[in-house]
Amino acid sequence: ANGTKGSLPSAKNTNTTNRSPDAILNLVQGDPTVFEPYWRNQGDKCTLLISGSDFMSYYSDCENICWFLQPQLADAIRNIHRDVGNAVLDGRHIVIGAGSTQLFQAAVYALSSPAGPEPISVVSAAPYYSRYPEEIEFLSSGLYKWGGDANTFDKDGPYIEVVNSPNNPDGTSRDAVVNRSEGRLIHDCAYYWPHYTPITGAADHNVMLFTLSKCTGHAGSRIGWAIVKDIEVAKKMIKFVEFNSLGVCKESQLRAAKILETISNEYSNLGCTKTANFFEYGQRLMAERWRKLREVIKRSKVFSLPEYPKECCNFSGEFMESHPAFAWLQSKGNMDAEKLLRSHKMMGKGGKYFGVDSKYARVSVVGREEDFNLLLERLWAIKGEETE
Ligand code: PMP
Repeated sequence: ANGTKGSLPSAKNTNTTNRSPDAILNLVQGDPTVFEPYWRNQGDKCTLLISGSDFMSYYSDCENICWFLQPQLADAIRNIHRDVGNAVLDGRHIVIGAGSTQLFQAAVYALSSPAGPEPISVVSAAPYYSRYPEEIEFLSSGLYKWGGDANTFDKDGPYIEVVNSPNNPDGTSRDAVVNRSEGRLIHDCAYYWPHYTPITGAADHNVMLFTLSKCTGHAGSRIGWAIVKDIEVAKKMIKFVEFNSLGVCKESQLRAAKILETISNEYSNLGCTKTANFFEYGQRLMAERWRKLREVIKRSKVFSLPEYPKECCNFSGEFMESHPAFAWLQSKGNMDAEKLLRSHKMMGKGGKYFGVDSKYARVSVVGREEDFNLLLERLWAIKGEETE
């Protein structure tokens, strides 16, 4: 039976497939190249000239507890959060890292030291970001260990819960689930930006992680920042980065500052209209991708997608749904979703990596347009015999 009657909606005639029809489409990683055209259109606005004698010192700002943080970047981070209204920064400490990956480990170290009688459990509600268990288990640390799904965690004593909201892989907005007084929380806010989700308020948690990778798409610059309430926790995180990499590349920091300033300037130049602002552009782009994706999935006999509630976005002033960076596909016939994708020349990441059933798989929707359109075409082409 043909589960997909008619022609592929919206993506038809997009003339995207200049690769071999047998080529495997890799959608495993969330490499955020979707925003490349935007930055290309900025011309020389973000170009930096760096001379041989620039940035030679280890030090950036000896007045700041985070002595390796370039002041321009600290300002740019404060400004972008003020523009978007997605986080509270007043009286908070900014800790910079080589991506939020380094800061996640710094935060886990800070919240687990000094060592207790046994390693502290680190938990997160399934489906959780697959790197959390991998990074926690990597060094077999005596300070912490992976404690699994927060929904079923029932061990007494202190624990660390990682709350990823909106969540990778399934795009849901989340709160902590264990909720005990001995809990220490890390909020991974990588996707709390208007292009992925409505901004419903300024996040105000003890340790919040953000990253340039998902904010502007500049994953290759490896810049992340933590917003930390408690100065002692911030100091320990700074110590971790100091011992791990003796600071953070200054060229990257200045590039990040320039990129963020460009967005903030657009915002202030345009007053309250915000038209053509990067986030508005991103919101439209992601909404359009999700509209096309849902059109294809609506007719699919094989996969379904989660629904997201419409909420008022304080940034855009509009009611909108989330448009996550990943599509969390569920096989309608309880088949192995990763294998199903693979048999149709698509590579996604199966549910087991995220602590759930293999009937789920995650595919990136933040790749280049060519890849996104090929995803639509291939999903559209799945006939549905597999489920019958
Ligand atoms: N947290 C989440 C939830 C992510 O999806 C990612 C990137 N895939 C990261 C953290 C790490 O981002 P980076 O190290 O590039 O800042």
